[in-house]
Amino acid sequence: METDKAAVSREEVRKLEEDFKMIRLDNICKTYEVGGDIVKALDHVSIHIKEGEFVSIIGPSGSGKSTLMNMIGCLDVADEGSYYLDGIAIEEYSEDNLAMVRNAKIGFVFQNFNLLNRLSAQENVELPLLYKKMTKKERERLVMEALNQVKLTERKGHKPMELSGGQQQRVAIARALVTNPAMILADEPTGNLDSGTGEKIMSLFHELHAKGNTIVLITHDEKVADQAERKIRILDGRVQEIISRQDIKDGKENQ
Ligand code: ADP
Ligand code: MG
Repeated sequence: METDKAAVSREEVRKLEEDFKMIRLDNICKTYEVGGDIVKALDHVSIHIKEGEFVSIIGPSGSGKSTLMNMIGCLDVADEGSYYLDGIAIEEYSEDNLAMVRNAKIGFVFQNFNLLNRLSAQENVELPLLYKKMTKKERERLVMEALNQVKLTERKGHKPMELSGGQQQRVAIARALVTNPAMILADEPTGNLDSGTGEKIMSLFHELHAKGNTIVLITHDEKVADQAERKIRILDGRVQEIISRQDIKDGKENQ
């Protein structure tokens, strides 16, 4: 058969590319009922995130950012809509499989670090590996590698209370990295840090992105959000606009 470039249409290529989006949310809705009031935390949210992208999700307090993070991170299920993770619809996974997928694919970073105070930095980073079949030696190698990536090897024996906020967030990032996840999902990672320390954490995210990590960063801080390749703005549970880095640089969003 003769090779015919037109045999694969633009539309088909687009569809193929779409299928390989790491994350695809289609019309996701999540409603909460509080004392008889209905809160539409997410109202038909449709977004795509490709492998290797650095995306920020920005919105004011109460706009639905954390709810969206919980969806993307498979920590919660939607009332309506579809979620595809690596091309597979989330509803096709059993609960056990979903937990496995989540642990394998996603590294979480939270605003308040979520470290265990009685454990050292090294032990905190080791936690996600304890569920894996792995020798102690192998675990130690991975933990040291992750601590090295966040430049904290010399503090490995310190407990969270003996570390600064920025250092604690570094430990949390190392813990997210240690399983070599496909994506890092960070909810307000600089929210509890002073601006200088926050900038250092952002540099770390840039480094990780340059190494090929997919980063989804949730923030209410415009300066932080502007550092991503793409900025998704949400308000009242709806996507307001999606701005690419070039447009951010050109200041097009204000036009
Ligand atoms: P953000 O992270 O942007 O501040 P959230 O996703 O936490 O926003 O919240 C979005 C909306 O959903 C808010 O109005 C909030 O009050 C409501 N909400 C979030 N979680 C719950 C919950 N567990 N129960 C009831 N309402 C909730
Ligand atoms: Mg939040």
